[in-house]
Amino acid sequence: MARRFCARARFAIKAAVDLPIQAQCEPPDDDRWFARMKASGIDTLGMHLEVVTPALRERIMPGKASVPLSRYMEAFESAVAVFGRGQVSTYILAGLGDSAEAILTMSRELIELGVYPFVVPFVPISGTPLEDHPAPTPEFMKSVLQPLGGMLNAAAMRSSDIKAGCGKCGACSSLSSYEE
Ligand code: SF4
Repeated sequence: MARRFCARARFAIKAAVDLPIQAQCEPPDDDRWFARMKASGIDTLGMHLEVVTPALRERIMPGKASVPLSRYMEAFESAVAVFGRGQVSTYILAGLGDSAEAILTMSRELIELGVYPFVVPFVPISGTPLEDHPAPTPEFMKSVLQPLGGMLNAAAMRSSDIKAGCGKCGACSSLSSYEE
């Protein structure tokens, strides 16, 4: 059912505009879904960690934390084998409590797997449970994005090479400006 829906959505989009498409999902029950998604015309994949410290994951997003980080890492490896190095990305929200070191350590592992870590500053939105949670300071963001840009450079992994999705768009983070 999901596969047919995905394929129909992809065909409808491609009929209207011939643009590359990113799909976003949680790690599936069966990694064969990645090949099915690719075969249906999806160009890139986003599987979003959001938060990387286990205790913080459990506190701030208990539903997502029911999927362990180890399962994300397995799924990332399988997805990169299908979509290609740099064509799988993950959103990491800086400012929710992860230390800069934790984000950078995870980012290093992700880059080694071929996953682009799209680190974005958390922005509080009124009317949501985290509306009073402060956004990260510019200094904190720089302490993450500057070394991360260096890691991406060293790995020759660039947002401009991503075919579609948030890493390609880049509007929610200044990360790409540190890649040069
Ligand atoms: S504006 Fe761009 S980076 Fe931000 S969520 Fe939308 S596609 Fe992703």
